[in-house]
Order: sequence, then C-alpha cells, then structure tokens
Amino acid sequence: MKLLTQHLCSALFLGATLLGVAGCDYISNQQKNETKITGKTMGTHYNITVVGEYPGGHEQLQHDADKILKKIVDDISTFDSNSTLSKFNEHKSTEPFEISKELAEIIIISLKAGLELEGATDITVGPLVNIWGFGPKKKTTFPSTEEIAQAKENTGLDKLHVEYGYNKYFLKKDNPNLYVDLSTVGEGIGADKLADMLDARGIKNYMIAVAGAIRTKGTNSRGTDWKIAIEDPSNEQNIGQNASTVVCTHGQAISTAGSYRNYREGKDGKRKSHIIDPVTGQPIESNTVSVTVIGKTALWTDALDTGLMVKGKEKALVYANENNIAIYTIVKTDKGFEAHYSRAMEQYLNCN
Ligand code: FAD
Repeated sequence: MKLLTQHLCSALFLGATLLGVAGCDYISNQQKNETKITGKTMGTHYNITVVGEYPGGHEQLQHDADKILKKIVDDISTFDSNSTLSKFNEHKSTEPFEISKELAEIIIISLKAGLELEGATDITVGPLVNIWGFGPKKKTTFPSTEEIAQAKENTGLDKLHVEYGYNKYFLKKDNPNLYVDLSTVGEGIGADKLADMLDARGIKNYMIAVAGAIRTKGTNSRGTDWKIAIEDPSNEQNIGQNASTVVCTHGQAISTAGSYRNYREGKDGKRKSHIIDPVTGQPIESNTVSVTVIGKTALWTDALDTGLMVKGKEKALVYANENNIAIYTIVKTDKGFEAHYSRAMEQYLNCN
C-alpha cells in the first residue's frame, strides 16, 4: 500500500509524461533533438515524441499519425454513423457481416480479454452505455429499471462471433439488436498502430500517448528511460496536476481506466461512472478510482484496465498476482486515497 503524496512537480522534474493527460510536455519541449506533435482523435487528444528527426519532419509525422488514427475511427467509432462498426450495429440481422482482417483481430483480442475477466470487460455492453448517456447520443435523464433490463437482454459476449471463410472475415451476432462498443480499446489500438508505424520507419526512441494509452520505445532525449506519471485523482479541483507515482515501462504498453474523469451526476449529486458493470447493467459503484495496467500491447492493457475497474481493487489484485500482471490501482478510503499494486508492478516503480 502506498499513500498518495507525490506532487506533479516531482514528476515534472523527472521529465515524466502524465498518464491520461497531454501535460508535462513543456519540460520535454525544452529538450533538443525531438520531433513532437499533438493532435485530436476519438474525442480526445494524442501526442507523439520522437527522439531525433522524423523523415519529412513534423508535418509528415502529423500527416502519417492522423492518417492512421482516421482509419481506426473509420473502422470502429460508434460516434460516426458511417464507420464499419456502426454499420454492423445497424445491421439488425443474424446474417454474417463482412469485416477486415484487422477489425477481426481487434474483436478477437477484445473478446479474449472479456473471457479472461469473466465478462467484466464486455464489448457488447453498448446498449447499456447508450441508455446511461455515455454513447454518441447525450442524455439528460437516467434509465428506468425496465430500460436497463431490456438493454441487458441485448448484451452478452457469447452472442458475438468472428468467423472466417472464403478468405474473408465476418462478424456475426446471435441477437439482431446486439451493439458492439469498442470505446474501451480505441485509445490502446491507436497507440499500438502508431507504434507499428514508427517501428516500420525505423524509429528507435519514441513515446506515444493516445489519452490514457501509452507506448514507448528506447529512451528519451536525455538518454534515460521514458517516465510515465500515474495521475493522482485526490485533488478534484486540480485533476491532472498531481502524480501518484512515476513508472518506467521499459518498452511495455501502459494504460489507465478511471471513474473520476468521465461521469454524469444525478439530481441527488451522486456520480454515475461511464464504466458499466455488465452484470448489474449499472455504472460501477466502488471505491476503486483507477486501475493502471502494464503489458505487451496497449490494446490488451486497455481491454484489461476497464474490466479490472469493474472487478474492483480486491479481485483485480488477486487476478493480477495470480496471472503475473502489473497493475497499480488507486482507491478512495475514509482516510483519503491509497495506491495498491501487484507484485509484477514492482519492477516498474521507483525508476530513476
Ligand atoms: P475506458 O475505461 O478505456 O473505456 C470506457 C468506455 O468503454 C465507456 O465510455 C464505454 O463506452 C465502454 N464501457 C463501459 N463499461 C464497459 C465494460 N464493462 N466493458 C467494456 N466496455 C465498457 N467521444 C466523443 O465524445 N466524441 C467523439 O467523437 C468520439 N469518438 C471516438 C472514436 C473512437 C474510435 C473511440 C474508440 C472513441 C470515441 N469517443 C468519442 C469516446 C471517448 O473518447 C471515450 O470516452 C473513450 O473511448 C473511453 O475511453 P476511456 O479511456 O476514457 O475509458
């Protein structure tokens, strides 16, 4: 257990990037020999730092990154009615729907993460996300018990299948009203695809952040490990200002899911998080405020962090320790905020 006291300044001093926020960059801006860009995607921000030159410079990097991210939005955004995924969601039929190999792979991995977490990460949770007002259509009220029960009927990982035949990939639903929501993995996919793009261009040292999903490779411009600060949510007025801790990911992906940024408030002042428990059909109500996961790909860590939020601190730590997964979770207690982490996380903490 760790009490949260580290101020962002110390993270800034270390030249860390604050996970989930495009902050702290001005320190890096002072560094020479970097190509840095920021941009907008998926209703949020991304930033990329390449140590040294990028072939074609800033403009080329921006162009290449925007192209990659636009392709992802075109494939999976539920906020764009023309995306492939929106068309599948509108396809009110149990007949197979053709998709690309790339999208098939994303869905297979997301389903695998869901099974791994016994359904806590559930990409078919879309109907519930939408009635709670966290989908493309904003809402002013909360759903009734009947609406929740009805939406739950149209969810279920076991009702979605990826099929392969005649050299093509297909997505198939057992229930015509199934609605797939890949928002939980979108940022992770973005960070991974951008990393693939930089790798393909031979870039050896970089840091990519698509909101709360980060990929790093090599070292920063000072020749030391990239440092990522995990946000401390305890000061509500200054979210994004304090760091709970700083980690060195040694080239692994890192992402965070949290309940303190994206929520709606009821008339009673009670907050409803955008993370939905697929079992109850309700936004999670626990003292677990954030879960950060380190792993091989940002798609995988992004899929796990949401489900581990649903599971809550105790079960998340048991799962992580049993499966050798690095997680760092922040919980709210009567005495303030506390951080807990799995054994596999220890190797990434206290980096210099
Ligand atoms: P995460 O914890 O990673 O994911 C939470 C999200 O996943 C929820 O918001 C919900 O959609 C879904 N979810 C909730 N519970 C579960 C569960 N148990 N299992 C699985 N999934 C769950 N937002 C806009 O406002 N405008 C846009 O134009 C826009 N475009 C987008 C385009 C794309 C391609 C994507 C992927 C997202 C877009 N978003 C947009 C959504 C926005 O950025 C989301 O807030 C974000 O994707 C959620 O990520 P997160 O890291 O905040 O939360």
